Amino acid sequence: MSSPSTPQPANRPDCSVKFPAYWGDVAQEPALGAAPLAGEVRCDVAVIGAGYSGLTAAIALAERGLDVRLLEAGHVGWGGSGRNSGSVIRGFKTSRTGLIAQYGRERGGAMSAFGDGTVQQVFDLVARFDIRCDLRKNGWILPAHNAAGLARTRERCESWTADGTKGLAMLDRAQTAEHLGTETYMGAMIDHECGALNPLAYARGLARAAQGLGVILHENSPVTGLEHGPDGTRVRTAQGVVRAGQVLITTNAYGNGLDRESGAQLATIHTHMVATDPIPEEIAARIMRHGQSASDSRRILHYWHMESDRRMLFGTRGLLDGPRKNGDFAHVIASLHRIYPELKNIGISHRWAGRVGMTRDFMPRIDQPRPNIWTAYGYCGRGVAMASSYGTLVGKVMAEKGNLAQIEVPNGPAPKLPALPLRRMGIVSVTQLYRMMDMVA
Ligand SMILES: Cc1cc2nc3c(=O)[nH]c(=O)nc-3n(C[C@H](O)[C@H](O)[C@H](O)COP(=O)(O)OP(=O)(O)OC[C@H]3O[C@@H](n4cnc5c(N)ncnc54)[C@H](O)[C@@H]3O)c2cc1C
Repeated sequence: MSSPSTPQPANRPDCSVKFPAYWGDVAQEPALGAAPLAGEVRCDVAVIGAGYSGLTAAIALAERGLDVRLLEAGHVGWGGSGRNSGSVIRGFKTSRTGLIAQYGRERGGAMSAFGDGTVQQVFDLVARFDIRCDLRKNGWILPAHNAAGLARTRERCESWTADGTKGLAMLDRAQTAEHLGTETYMGAMIDHECGALNPLAYARGLARAAQGLGVILHENSPVTGLEHGPDGTRVRTAQGVVRAGQVLITTNAYGNGLDRESGAQLATIHTHMVATDPIPEEIAARIMRHGQSASDSRRILHYWHMESDRRMLFGTRGLLDGPRKNGDFAHVIASLHRIYPELKNIGISHRWAGRVGMTRDFMPRIDQPRPNIWTAYGYCGRGVAMASSYGTLVGKVMAEKGNLAQIEVPNGPAPKLPALPLRRMGIVSVTQLYRMMDMVA
């Protein structure tokens, strides 16, 4: 994804320099190579952060005739969007029944429909802009690691199906083993509507589409400050200023204090991934043979899939501040080998990690901390589809000079988290607690 010469976002050494993701080696969409911002310019909207949220918002804004500048600290897909696992999964973590209980019949129902539609939104963007991101519409499997996990998985499948969601089914133990190629799991839910793609190629394709619609993209342009005035906001970088009528901040887990409000509501954790060398055909024929991706029912979950070059990509929780050495991936490899002992002799070709932005209630947010400043964040590890839809939605509402009340998904600030030192201790304790709970329930 990045080479040692890639400039890093200011004040933020990032593990990607030492541990570049697999995706850069195989992405068909080329890097953008956009010039940094220089001098003073004006625009209708400045978007900060070129991940899926910022890129899809820029597309939605430009399509409606607005003049957009998109500022990215590193390069397109530098954050989670260029290094995730590429599973295109739909829905909020809460079922339709749960959303209706929390938000009322009308709004909860609308939220659920929005969540269901997020995968199709990705498929539509890929088709519309002819994005070469190796999109597969093979489905996603949620295997249950123990009896309590199976009960939760079944409840989810049954309640979502009863709520009218199509494409879900339960797999029994034998069917799960047949799909995954491991006897480890007690059963699973399969969602046939989901898919997988090369996440970096998808981000680059969105950026190409945005440029085609007139968006001016600046890479290597970390925003260092915002100054609010009566005629809009001055967005500063080291070498330039954008005077913008409206600003959208989509820095999410990679933000470094620009947006204090969402910073106080977002816990960032690292998740680590590895890719194996290509697996011999006779072994690969038994593993993930129908091409789905999987993430299991653990709270500290394992997620994996097989790429078309027969590499297994596998991830799980990471260290709080990310990896520093190869040994920091030992627990990921050990988990992979517990599930697939036949891969013990297959080499590891790539190791990488990225930050995930978590909210206290596991719901992502769109917020408007000032009349002309918007934010979208907190996808809790499920942002390929959700961030694409959130970005599109916030871009549309901004273009129409709308307000938060028009946003049907969770809006306004997420519940506050403790201040940083306490938050870090909280993350460590909750991770340990979840790991213990995963052993028993
Ligand atoms: C290892 C890993 C695996 C994952 N797997 C999946 C998966 O399989 N499926 C799924 O749905 N989700 C997955 N996710 C989550 C998903 O990647 C994210 O939810 C999604 O990419 C968030 O997109 P975003 O646009 O909000 O943020 P990002 O993609 O993180 O974009 C934020 C951008 O803001 C930029 N930025 C930060 N500060 C500044 C500044 N001051 N000035 C300018 N730019 C700035 C950053 O450089 C970055 O490019 C995974 C995440 C990780 C890390």
